[in-house]
Amino acid sequence: MRHPAIESLLILQDREQTRRALGQNLGMIPADKARVEQKIAAERAAIETAKAEWRGLESRKKLLETEIGGAEDRLAKYRTQQSLVKKNDEYQALGHEIETTEAKIGELEEQELEIMFAIDQAKERFAAAEQELNDNIADHTDRLKVLDDRDASLRADLGAAETACEQAKIGIEARALRLFEQVASRTFPACVAVEGGKCGGCHLRVSGEAEGVARKGEELARCDQCGRIIWWESS
Ligand SMILES: [Zn+2]
Repeated sequence: MRHPAIESLLILQDREQTRRALGQNLGMIPADKARVEQKIAAERAAIETAKAEWRGLESRKKLLETEIGGAEDRLAKYRTQQSLVKKNDEYQALGHEIETTEAKIGELEEQELEIMFAIDQAKERFAAAEQELNDNIADHTDRLKVLDDRDASLRADLGAAETACEQAKIGIEARALRLFEQVASRTFPACVAVEGGKCGGCHLRVSGEAEGVARKGEELARCDQCGRIIWWESS
């Protein structure tokens, strides 16, 4: 015979299982949302990185242009001076300065070309990073919305499941309920059938004495191994 509290305990256990599953699903939502938010943040960071590279190259280009401008001014000055000098050695010295400056300008212009090429590449990276976020942002936003809706609906279900658990507790004798709650706080399910002499929770063989108590159904029996409440399934 089953102990008279078993049936009510099994109803409570069933509702408790639902409540726990809802709580678990609800508990996973913050991490899911965080993953989406991290993706958005990573895509935004990629845009910022590309923008910073691009800006850095633009300011290097400006510096080079200033340097080239300065060299060109010097070159013009040397040429004017050269046209005015009378002495041959002075003429030649200025000619040397002119050559050196021209070579320097050539070198700087080469660097400028390289930077302009790098700027084009940085612009492409920037555009690609922006495109990626633009392509994904709708999906990210949808996903966050789905998670928020899920959160709200799980909260509502959880509230209902908690009420259902409280209702199931009504009418269960105090000692049986206390024992159930004590076991359930450690291990779940807390109330299991003995089948073939084995506990339905830990699957170990229960003692003849515990099985005898379960069969009689006058007291709540417990598995000797795991402490779960056991009941005899008469077939
Ligand atoms: Zn057991």
